[in-house]
Amino acid sequence: MTDAVVSLESGKKSFGSNQVLKDISLTVNKGDVLAIIGPSGGGKSTLLRCMTLLETLDGGSLAYGDLAVATDAGGRAVYGGKQVLAKAKERFGLVFQNFNLFPHYTVMKNITDPLICVQKMPKEQAEARAVELLAKMGLSGKEAMVPCELSGGQQQRVAIARALAMNPDVLFFDEPTSALDPELTREVLKVIRDLASEHMTMVIVTHEMSFARDVADRIIFMDGGVIVEQGPADQLINNPQHNRTKAFLSNYA
Ligand code: ADP
Ligand code: MG
Repeated sequence: MTDAVVSLESGKKSFGSNQVLKDISLTVNKGDVLAIIGPSGGGKSTLLRCMTLLETLDGGSLAYGDLAVATDAGGRAVYGGKQVLAKAKERFGLVFQNFNLFPHYTVMKNITDPLICVQKMPKEQAEARAVELLAKMGLSGKEAMVPCELSGGQQQRVAIARALAMNPDVLFFDEPTSALDPELTREVLKVIRDLASEHMTMVIVTHEMSFARDVADRIIFMDGGVIVEQGPADQLINNPQHNRTKAFLSNYA
């Protein structure tokens, strides 16, 4: 019996001869906020894409709670069938750097469409849930707008509402603010902070170091396809042990 919401064991992924994930293991427990930091090209997005089934692992095992998504067979990742994958996809949400909203759908339809089409929720119920989540994101009254009528920060908050609507066990963020200017970044970080204070389980790839230190319980520093160092957020940011971590953090001092 464990509290693990998601765990990856010995995850490996290559693109051609480029070994992007070398041997990554991580476990996220219920209520954990995990931040992943590291230089560009270090494999952070690939890690998130493998964990959210947008890419397949070459080797390793991946589980969502009691659901084995991929199991390791002699260093090779063997994935479960369609039903297993569909079930796993209901357990996580993903928020990208570039919002990834449907441009021709209203805010309301962006949020309700997956609820109605994937979860088969009645329309009225889906709309009530969207209204509630938009209020929580500070976006009441924006239901009928289309994404291009909103600021980047508002669009990203719609994307977060859409992900939350599915009631996931864990929410992944891949650099949710790196397309935003500082003011809009603050708006988005605020809603993520609020989610953290409600103990939403989250994995956040970010370049916002002070945010990571404040919000995350644990930080992983990733470089060259490996976890170089990990630890409690304060400790990793204020007292890094490895030279690579120190060098990376010195860029943000
Ligand atoms: P990060 O998010 O830390 O910047 P990425 O996971 O995006 O790192 O990239 C890690 C490495 O994997 C880079 O060398 C990148 O070029 C390569 N890579 C990522 N996605 C693909 C892909 N779909 N095809 C080929 N190479 C890729
Ligand atoms: Mg990336």
